[in-house]
Amino acid sequence: MDYTELKLRLMQQGAKFTAAARKTMCHNRFGHITFSDYATTGGIVAVLDKRVYVNIPEKFQGTSFEVDVFEDKLILKYHNRIIKISFCIIPVPKYALDVERLSDNTPVRELVMTHADRVRISPVHGCSYHCNFCTSNEAYYKEILCEQLDQAFNIALNDPYNKPCHVLISGGTPNEEINSYAWINDIYYYFPHKYPQFDFDVMLSPRGMRPEQTSMKDYDEFLHYLYDECGVKTLSVNLELYNDRFRDRFIPDKAAVGKDNYYRFILQAVEIFGEKSVRSSLVVGLESEEDTLNGVRALLDCGCLPVLSAFVPAPGTDMANYPAPSVEFLLETARKANDMAREAKLQLGPLCRPCTHNSITIEEGEIVI
Ligand code: SF4
Repeated sequence: MDYTELKLRLMQQGAKFTAAARKTMCHNRFGHITFSDYATTGGIVAVLDKRVYVNIPEKFQGTSFEVDVFEDKLILKYHNRIIKISFCIIPVPKYALDVERLSDNTPVRELVMTHADRVRISPVHGCSYHCNFCTSNEAYYKEILCEQLDQAFNIALNDPYNKPCHVLISGGTPNEEINSYAWINDIYYYFPHKYPQFDFDVMLSPRGMRPEQTSMKDYDEFLHYLYDECGVKTLSVNLELYNDRFRDRFIPDKAAVGKDNYYRFILQAVEIFGEKSVRSSLVVGLESEEDTLNGVRALLDCGCLPVLSAFVPAPGTDMANYPAPSVEFLLETARKANDMAREAKLQLGPLCRPCTHNSITIEEGEIVI
């Protein structure tokens, strides 16, 4: 087995964590070691041999992997045999494990969440878009006040278990209303100015400064606002799927924006933010390999870094009972996508190594069991 296959098997199968392992890990008074927010970030982030990052869902049965302790160190076993690699864990933050709250009783982890070395700020609770596989789809829509986000952000920055190094201001997508756009535009401005010591990344869909501004000029104005005025460093503009039939069915709001508008927005973003500063996620496992690779090609042609995310059938979503893709399918697709990216003198994203923990990446080297 190589590191790529090991990573994908861990992401797909998860691992049991023995009592001895749990004792050495950060946990709360109930012994919980994880907090699951989104389907793809619900596990423990582990580092294999100090270089391969992987999100490992916590499983109590149905997996061949076990995290245990040997000679005071965490070890990883596969079918009860020790894999000869170093195995470390990046802790889940204390505010998430202990459900710390703001003065108004809002759980901090509803507004911010640290994964690996990045803290995510979530200005929108829920989302005005309804992507069928997304856990935000079912949540009620609410715009969070900037002061509340700032309080939560400060708690995350000072967390005793995990202090983040960079920041994502993520979706959901705001309502198409002038006030909603103005409110989130202020948040994009506020945080990078107040915390210039951090690099800020923003995840969003193609848009202008105000609703229904979708001309190239509008895109250009908004992207310049983010880059020149706000000081945002990188963007994530997620295409999600390539095949129009699946886009209409699974991501109707993004389908309504139109793939061409995604490409136009991304092209312009690369122009303004620079090479390797714009990435876009594709969900692998809902459409054919050919569709996904066509999506990879289209993104590379825009100068954008494709990020491959394995489809995870998340409980509570419309797609909870859809089958997860096989490791073999993911491997095959990822290897071809990686070759295409290298040929284009780009690479599969994200560039931040710790942030690759929940993406399909090609990792060098064989492992010994
Ligand atoms: S736009 Fe993003 S946050 Fe909103 S439903 Fe789609 S995937 Fe989820």
